[in-house]
Amino acid sequence: MQASARIRAIHAGGGHGWEILERARAMRRAGRAVIDLTIGEHEAPTPAPIVEAMAASARAGNTRYAAVTGTPELRAAVAARVASRTGAPCTPEEIAVTVGGQMALSYAFHACLDPGDAAVILDPFYPPYPGTLHAAGARVRVAPSLPDDGFQPDLEALDRACEGARALLINTPHNPTGAVYRPETIEALAEIARRRNLWLISDEVYDGMVWSGTHRSPRALPGMAERTVVIGSLSKSHAMTGFRLGWAVAPAPLARLMGDLALNLAYGLPGFVQDAGLFALTRAGAAEGALRETFRRRRDVAAAALAGHDAVRLSAPDGAMYVMLDIRATGIDGRTFAAALLDAEGVAVMPGESFGASAAGHLRVALTAPDEALADALRRIARFAETRRAPP
Ligand code: PMP
Repeated sequence: MQASARIRAIHAGGGHGWEILERARAMRRAGRAVIDLTIGEHEAPTPAPIVEAMAASARAGNTRYAAVTGTPELRAAVAARVASRTGAPCTPEEIAVTVGGQMALSYAFHACLDPGDAAVILDPFYPPYPGTLHAAGARVRVAPSLPDDGFQPDLEALDRACEGARALLINTPHNPTGAVYRPETIEALAEIARRRNLWLISDEVYDGMVWSGTHRSPRALPGMAERTVVIGSLSKSHAMTGFRLGWAVAPAPLARLMGDLALNLAYGLPGFVQDAGLFALTRAGAAEGALRETFRRRRDVAAAALAGHDAVRLSAPDGAMYVMLDIRATGIDGRTFAAALLDAEGVAVMPGESFGASAAGHLRVALTAPDEALADALRRIARFAETRRAPP
């Protein structure tokens, strides 16, 4: 028997490039010390009061089927956060709470694209984007955002790629590069979406983690709320990756239709998780602020550790929880470098190539180790790069 073409298409074009992570874990199991800077997972635990809120809710009996697209209180709290962050009004009817930002992406793609429709993404990209689009039956077109322009989109190439497409997917602050799109870039992306009559799906799961520049949501621009779907999540802001709590912000009729999808796919997420999310959004501002400061500080720790090393350069670390290292001066591609680095120095990072061709010759470093270990890892990367440096 043949599996469906749709499910077989999910991985067309390769896997997610997590071989380094798997090898790092195997090395650790074998007793070797490895500093793992591969995935965007905080090394610190979820703030205790949030876990307590979840436990209290479960103990109070909130363990049955729960409101499928979010309790009214949770949707109101998300709407209030979106309105205060973006400056544009937002109502609970425009919110669908989902199983992580990941499921919000999936719902958005199902809601905005018919089978065979093209969606445009910017390279480098968060690795699940193509597979999630393929699972919705969509075709994927890729436009570059190049390192020498701080990984900002190449607007002319993007505009050409958008011809005849149905949706444009953007992500700012950006994983993997840490780029924060400039306000004028957001305006230009919105203009392309309006002129080409596209849905604009804006992945803003890192919206609170901005170190330089300003995060602007395209949803707040004139005439954009009706064609924009914003993706949000508590995973990164509150160190709640395992709670799987995210949301989509969409025009109310589309949010209602996403509710039909939610009813027939996940049937919502646990009520005690929703209560933990409500607590996080309304009463854990200090914990969120402390997490944000940790990553801001580590961006500076990374810059200080690399100062004076020119075989490795920091590229565009304006936001999110990653830095990109430009290793093109070594003449070695990211995959070969990352594999050799893991063997020689016990430091695991992601090759830029895992995120698309535009990030070739780069490494993505997740800022997910305590400051001293992070600085040590970066110094080892720099030292290793010097030994491999291409002759002038
Ligand atoms: N979008 C981006 C750009 C991400 O980096 C992630 C998580 N790494 C997600 C969406 C999904 O996050 P989650 O499902 O944990 O909310």
